[in-house]
Amino acid sequence: MKLLVTGGAGFIGSAVVRLAVARGHQVVNLDALTYAANLANVAPVADSPLYTFQQADIRDRAALDAAFATHQPDIVLHLAAESHVDRSIDGPADFIDTNITGTFNMLEAARKYWQAAGRPDGFRFHHVSTDEVFGSLPADPAVQFTEATAYDPRSPYSASKAASDHLVRAWFETYGLPVVLSNCSNNYGPYHFPEKLIPVVILNALAGRPLPIYGDGSNIRDWLYVEDHADALLLVATKGALGRSYNIGGENELTNLQLVQTICAILDRLRPRETGTYADLITFVTDRPGHDARYAIDPTRIRDELGWRPSVTVEEGLERTVRWYLENEAWWRPLLGRQGVGQRLGRAAP
Ligand code: NAD
Repeated sequence: MKLLVTGGAGFIGSAVVRLAVARGHQVVNLDALTYAANLANVAPVADSPLYTFQQADIRDRAALDAAFATHQPDIVLHLAAESHVDRSIDGPADFIDTNITGTFNMLEAARKYWQAAGRPDGFRFHHVSTDEVFGSLPADPAVQFTEATAYDPRSPYSASKAASDHLVRAWFETYGLPVVLSNCSNNYGPYHFPEKLIPVVILNALAGRPLPIYGDGSNIRDWLYVEDHADALLLVATKGALGRSYNIGGENELTNLQLVQTICAILDRLRPRETGTYADLITFVTDRPGHDARYAIDPTRIRDELGWRPSVTVEEGLERTVRWYLENEAWWRPLLGRQGVGQRLGRAAP
């Protein structure tokens, strides 16, 4: 099977690339290498004969046509996106260009390739999206996002992802393009770019800096270990029913405060402070505008139709993640100097 993975130098895309190569798939990693990319994320497979890197921007339609013609993929996993909510609030234009127009370009390039290849059943386009398109949930644990939940995006990031989801469904209904979609909860794990909440907390704690938590820390997220997500994505891409979407969650709901306290407790065990505990560093900062209260995934469809469940608990996944950051300073240290990352260590949310 030949996979074309867009955004394969990013956090989740690189986990997909590493897993797909490990499973014997040929993989083309198409990525523009924005500030969020890091080819070190795919270093474990870079020398494999199964792996190819193609630098291209999904805003460039001609580059996409050329990539499809050159690489002739069986399956596309489309992950390339601007992904950081706070950056979307500070400057939404890139989110519109990449997430909406870029996805439109991907669909049109895929449609041209699929029609020219004359293989109606030999191609699939998997669009990877977020549960943030569904908006914000009340605290009641009985209420979760299902695939039938109405879209209600509330940030420029989630609105741009919602728009891209609608385009993908329209290309299925209108042109019959063989698509499948997934919407997942917050990911965490190794290789997570150090402007997102979990790496920010780990790296600030190690430096003895304040651990910033938006508002009162009561916002709830459902945490999904990135390697579990990569496993689910390969399953949905290959076995998901065409035209259908699958919600992917970790079955791990935590408030932001509980999450940060759990990380602090792991660090207290693995690398104790000379005085006090890491939780002493927790600092509450002014809330993000329009901060969604709760996200939670109902995983029934992917469990019942495809037999998938997450393999690690959030406690196991967080311990693996903290250990990874402790052992991989050579990976994260150079990223702290990248565009805008240093200032974001002072405010972070999932
Ligand atoms: P990321 O920011 O870590 O990586 C994004 C990658 O896309 C980078 O390598 C970047 O260079 C590339 N990219 C950006 N713009 C591009 C362009 N114009 N052309 C080509 N490549 C471009 O993102 P991530 O956290 O790995 O998220 C991947 C996907 O999963 C996104 O579509 C995101 O919306 C979705 N998602 C993420 C999460 C999460 O918790 N991180 C949750 C749900 C869904």
